[in-house]
Amino acid sequence: MFIGHFAVGFAAKKFAPTVSLAVLFMAAQFVDLLWPTLLLLGVERVAISPGITAVTPLDFTYYPFTHSLVMSILWGFIVGGLVYAVSKNFRNAVVVLCCVVSHWVLDLIVHRPDLPLTLSNSNHVGLGLWNFPIATMVIEFAMLFGGAYVYWKTVKPVSTMRKYGLTALVLLLAIIHVANIFGPPPPSVSAIAWAGHLQWLFVVFAYFVDKNQRPNVKK
Ligand SMILES: [Zn+2]
Repeated sequence: MFIGHFAVGFAAKKFAPTVSLAVLFMAAQFVDLLWPTLLLLGVERVAISPGITAVTPLDFTYYPFTHSLVMSILWGFIVGGLVYAVSKNFRNAVVVLCCVVSHWVLDLIVHRPDLPLTLSNSNHVGLGLWNFPIATMVIEFAMLFGGAYVYWKTVKPVSTMRKYGLTALVLLLAIIHVANIFGPPPPSVSAIAWAGHLQWLFVVFAYFVDKNQRPNVKK
């Protein structure tokens, strides 16, 4: 899943309005932000096998540190714990923890059975929605627009100019998602790893969009 994770970040704002969208994006996408770094370091591995699923040609051969159920929960506690250490806000920490763990749950829906349960890298699971490109597109876009709508209702842009920042962020996510699905397979694993780091730009973008919003005060 790609934009569905960002949708979770958007929607989480409703439950933790004082947490920056950048932090919520980082949490929901945490293990995918870590993954390209571990690929570059040779800790985790991926292969390019066009046709392995209808949506992505990536064969996730070894990624238990980022994508096992056990590690997802552990990362959730680490990132949520950091939020608690900084903010002393238990509710915000729990929302962030849930965002981190939600990544594995959403990946479970789309991945073929390649998600490990534990670090031992055995017992792989995955429900395989990626074998159905149209269903994948419909579900991910519905999630993106739904999540962005929840965010939109939760915050109030400080100026009209700032409204366009949110629209641009949603459009950019949508365009990159379509390009990922219909574009050619990546040329190499190192290209995947380097391009993967560009996802941090969404976190930066979210920071600036969110900086200019304030919680929507009901009259
Ligand atoms: Zn993932």
